Amino acid sequence: MSVFENPAFRHHESVHFCADEKTGLQAIVAIHSTVLGPALGGCRIINYKDSAEALEDVLRLSRGMSLKNALAGLELGGGKSVIIPPASWNGDARRAGADRAPLFEAFGRAVQSLGGRYISAEDMNVSVEDAENMALTTDYVVGLDVKHGGMGDPSPLTADGVFFGMRACVRRAFDRDDFKGLRIAVQGLGKVGWRLCEHLHEAGAELLVADIDLKTLSRAEKTFDAKIVDKDGIVTEAVDVFAPCARGAIINDDTIDHVQAKVIAGSANNQLASDRLGKALMQKGIIYAPDYVINAGGVINVAPEAKGIVDHDWVREKVIKLEDTVGEIVDESLAQNRPTNEVADEIAMRRIITARDSGRSWRAAGTKKTSLRRSA
Ligand code: NAD
Repeated sequence: MSVFENPAFRHHESVHFCADEKTGLQAIVAIHSTVLGPALGGCRIINYKDSAEALEDVLRLSRGMSLKNALAGLELGGGKSVIIPPASWNGDARRAGADRAPLFEAFGRAVQSLGGRYISAEDMNVSVEDAENMALTTDYVVGLDVKHGGMGDPSPLTADGVFFGMRACVRRAFDRDDFKGLRIAVQGLGKVGWRLCEHLHEAGAELLVADIDLKTLSRAEKTFDAKIVDKDGIVTEAVDVFAPCARGAIINDDTIDHVQAKVIAGSANNQLASDRLGKALMQKGIIYAPDYVINAGGVINVAPEAKGIVDHDWVREKVIKLEDTVGEIVDESLAQNRPTNEVADEIAMRRIITARDSGRSWRAAGTKKTSLRRSA
């Protein structure tokens, strides 16, 4: 199937295939929309089966970034990029060799050639150090360290946003504002899941936790008095709230019939294996906080950086508002008897289309300079 016939290509503004012979770089940058602002979305490096699979991934993700940025009320469009690891890396996307930095510098040059229409950041297997290597050759990368003019680690803000968004769901599901005594299952105790547990523990919730890392689990048992449960079985535990904070597709055809939680609210991306499962959750009376809405704290955190500024107060205010955003989506879903994921997609698309039809479109206003950029 060619690019234009691919259904995932629909509504994309452009797709860029980038290569650099010297470093072996092969990358795809997908720009879904620049109506609301430059297309911002992370870069991931993954072993894809083939370039068609990489294309499918980047197209799907870039559309998701348009929706996420629009719903978070950011002046940003949506884009994403994927790098296919060079053959010499032998399938190790996290390879730490001397050829890693030049690859990301080459990718930075490709990003720079797009003139600011796309702004990159970290995603799967791409570290702050990789992003800073991109920043040697492009002005258009965010997620840099504080000492290089960045906004720092987005995870705490993501966790805070999940906590606020979860409270909006709890209010609607249980008619209460507090978490005291609520049984909450958190899958994945990484950067986001751990901080979420801190908030929930402090708020008096009873925690059930799962992770693949045994040390982390025993730390959680001591710190939060949490009950350790099976990493796969956690999705079907008899709890009030389930917070997926590890991997995607956790709500799928195998699990959906066994979910007992009344609320699903977590940070993991693509929690639903397919969009239609949103309707199935609604029919079971489960309130699902759409993943890209509730986990927007991270992208909100880097938004000022895209304008070349640092503004932690603005970020904090925006993240607090996620409680209202999630609440409004749930209210609309309940009032119209429509799945929350469908309501969220529609609000986001409406914002983009309204802006587009009013003639709004983003133009590069100037060049944002990172402190790392080498002079040309
Ligand atoms: P992380 O890598 O720090 O943590 C993930 C945790 O999940 C780790 O502790 C890992 O051991 C655990 N894990 C992995 N597989 C598991 C499994 N099968 N069962 C249970 N636990 C498992 O990642 P993170 O930054 O905390 O992000 C968590 C999720 O939230 C990811 O899906 C990520 O894409 C998403 N997300 C994160 C951010 C952010 O700011 N960090 C923003 C938006 C979305």
